[in-house]
Amino acid sequence: MTRVNTVLGPIAVEELGFTSIHEHIGYGMPGSELDTRWWKDPEVRYSETVPKLRAYRENGGNTYVDATGICNGRDVDYYKSLSDKTGVNIIACTGFVGGDTALKHFADAAVEYLAEQFIHELTVGIGRTGGKAGIIKVGVSRGFKMTPLDLKIYRAAARAALATGVPIITHLAIDSQPAIDIFHEEGLPLSRVLFGHADDGVSQGKVDEEGILSAGGRIGFDTFGYDLELPDPPFWGRHRDERFQHLMRFLRAGRVDQVLVAADANCSPLGWPGVKGHTINYLFEQLIPDLRQDGIDEATIHRLFVTNPADFFTPSKEK
Ligand SMILES: [Zn+2]
Repeated sequence: MTRVNTVLGPIAVEELGFTSIHEHIGYGMPGSELDTRWWKDPEVRYSETVPKLRAYRENGGNTYVDATGICNGRDVDYYKSLSDKTGVNIIACTGFVGGDTALKHFADAAVEYLAEQFIHELTVGIGRTGGKAGIIKVGVSRGFKMTPLDLKIYRAAARAALATGVPIITHLAIDSQPAIDIFHEEGLPLSRVLFGHADDGVSQGKVDEEGILSAGGRIGFDTFGYDLELPDPPFWGRHRDERFQHLMRFLRAGRVDQVLVAADANCSPLGWPGVKGHTINYLFEQLIPDLRQDGIDEATIHRLFVTNPADFFTPSKEK
């Protein structure tokens, strides 16, 4: 039986239920925790976060993957308390959002050291929290091109994924060929990798969707809700219907099984104001009604949010 690490302990993969694969309890750039302007009392963080997770649970959400990673505000003791209070399974990640958010200690480390760090967090625990990571995060640094440090982190992630059976999610799906080459060199099947943010506004025209899909990779439509229709949209925003039709093209082309969907929302951002009016509950309040209205049946919605995440967390038998 496949078991998946949540911050409160392992659960059977069948227990994941409705899963959002890429979210953030609170994401900030390294160092923001030292900036007095942004200090948040625990009470504020709880009050911003608990209602969103409770609403997610009430809407039918069961599992929440926190894609925050090392150096960006990950806080496992806090996640444990949130999970306990709200009944939402929270899966923490090891790894880095991108090479440019890895602090010097890690940026200077060898690939073997990084792989060991990831494996330790996946099998022993994160710090002294006792909570283990359940997924690995990697990403492309700013500049739309893989840096040598990004590539080192991808290689360490591939080794940790092979050693533990857990999957990898990426921040950005651009410049994917060097990543695919590394995964091939390390012998990691591409079905273990979700190339994320293929749907965001800044990536359009820069993602080799066919290259990723034909190599067996998965595509993340995981920034749902960052709509240019918001009052103060972020630079990576996109027109709501454009993103939705992009997903619909994948579904109509029979690519349902290679797609994972999420909102990438911050419950309580760290060191930045966040994007007002965007929460994980966009999935229930906007996206799923839109899918139904466009004739997507319940079985397909179930595949997107229940079957595909469970399949992604199940170690591959491919070589
Ligand atoms: Zn994210």
